[in-house]
Amino acid sequence: MLHTDPTPAPAREGLVMTTPPLRILILMSRTGGGHLASARALEAEFLRQNPQASVTIVDLLTDHISFPFSRLPRTYDTLVNRAPRLWRAMWSVTARPAVGGSSSALVRRMSRGKIERLIREAAPDLVVSVHPLVNDLVIPVLARLAPATPYVTVVTDLGGIHPLWLHPDNAAIYLPTAKAVETAMACGLPKHRLHAHGLPIRAEFAAAPPDRAEARRAFGLDPALPAVLVMGGGGGIGPIEAIVDAMAETLAGSGGAPPAQIVVIAGKNARLQARLADRPWPVPVVPLGFVERMSDLMHASDLLITKAGPGTIAEASVRGLPMLIYGFIPGQEAANVDHVVQAGAGLFEPDPARLAAEVSALLVTDRARLAAMAGKARALGRDRATQDIVASILADLPKA
Ligand code: UDP
Repeated sequence: MLHTDPTPAPAREGLVMTTPPLRILILMSRTGGGHLASARALEAEFLRQNPQASVTIVDLLTDHISFPFSRLPRTYDTLVNRAPRLWRAMWSVTARPAVGGSSSALVRRMSRGKIERLIREAAPDLVVSVHPLVNDLVIPVLARLAPATPYVTVVTDLGGIHPLWLHPDNAAIYLPTAKAVETAMACGLPKHRLHAHGLPIRAEFAAAPPDRAEARRAFGLDPALPAVLVMGGGGGIGPIEAIVDAMAETLAGSGGAPPAQIVVIAGKNARLQARLADRPWPVPVVPLGFVERMSDLMHASDLLITKAGPGTIAEASVRGLPMLIYGFIPGQEAANVDHVVQAGAGLFEPDPARLAAEVSALLVTDRARLAAMAGKARALGRDRATQDIVASILADLPKA
């Protein structure tokens, strides 16, 4: 199990606790960084709203299903990076109910003992899924072992809602947008079980950001220079070095003071971080490893270059950060591009040279357009999403 926080019930003298703490089991898997980030955001908010609760987050696919399926999370980054067409085919074919249902049934049959053990040991009062692949594996087992335990799903995709998110036996499904609710209704889910509060992001995004110059200093950036943030999800996916190359060259232009600095999240890719740190650059380039304080870093930045990750887009929107999207994971992220571009909060440009020209135009000659995009991004943001989702889940729990 990844994380357990058995926060003890407040032991006030002379007071006998009659209600045992609520046990919440959150099911996620580390395919990308978004599911874990959402799971942690929900965990923190459950504990804020119900300090007596005990919350356990598990990586169901890695730790509670059988080989070889348990290897999917470990191979996911390589698969989506190196074999995107194969991934798109897998995503599309499993979206057909006959294929998705029978594949899940096979994995469930082979993993039943492990899933049953997890449910018996965790003995949850509430199960929360933040991953589409876990629902078909767990819901039928839970229905047999603990039929009174509510199972809810918090969808952590923005545009492309894979049907495996939408198991009909979910007590409730929390979706990111009204459009996603329509998709779920078209799949036969009843409206009263569907809610649209936004995508769960960390509590720090709901707090007022620090002074921008201070935030830039904290990341080793020049406090006075506009900053372009480059990232590719939790796994650092995409042609990040080529993009930084093209941008540095374009921003350096014909010499003179650089109009902007570039901050790059290399994430777990230590080699990329070292390479970027060793190279001489014509404009300031600050490579970082995995960043915990994403809210501050987004606030320190003027423009985000990213793949179309749902978590990143939801966070950047709350921070009013315009987005230039260079790519997307086929399948689940394709519709995220439309979510951003149709709202006017960003642009899609996969070619590094053209993307660099766009960055230069927005930062140097067309600041008014950049400001307009920032306003549209902010309008997309749902900074209370996590609080509202948790409040709604807790309010709907059967009373003891
Ligand atoms: N993230 C982070 N620190 C990093 C890189 C990424 O906290 O150094 C977080 C990011 O803020 C977002 C998540 O990882 O919450 C990435 O999720 P997204 O859905 O954008 O992409 P995924 O990694 O799931 O493909």
